[in-house]
Amino acid sequence: MTFRLQRVRTMPPVLQPNILYVAEHYGAAAHLCACGCGSKIRTPLGPTEWSVQDTPSGPSLLPSVGNWQKPCKSHYFIERGQILWAAQWTEEQIRAGRRQEQRRRDVYYAELDRQRGGVFARLWHWFRSLF
Ligand SMILES: [Zn+2]
Repeated sequence: MTFRLQRVRTMPPVLQPNILYVAEHYGAAAHLCACGCGSKIRTPLGPTEWSVQDTPSGPSLLPSVGNWQKPCKSHYFIERGQILWAAQWTEEQIRAGRRQEQRRRDVYYAELDRQRGGVFARLWHWFRSLF
């Protein structure tokens, strides 16, 4: 199975398999789970989220896609249009992955904060305190 990139203005309500939809304006990408289960997988794009790279042989989506919240729990990379299956994570690995993601955001916003003088950190801490 290979993926190709399709740039859209807004996400279509029904996704076709094997297409990585990118709505740049909304900082969003979406595709149907590569295992074929039909789950819609949304991956926000941004400096601390996912990034899409278009290559002549197809799109790359980084980091990997881990559908832990879906019944299939599949985990894969989309690299140059190809699906590279990755090991399924244990509960512990999923928790560790989430912590790592959180750290990445903390570091990113701390750096923004340093550059912009404190507003972002206050907003971010307020935002985090909601959860
Ligand atoms: Zn699936």
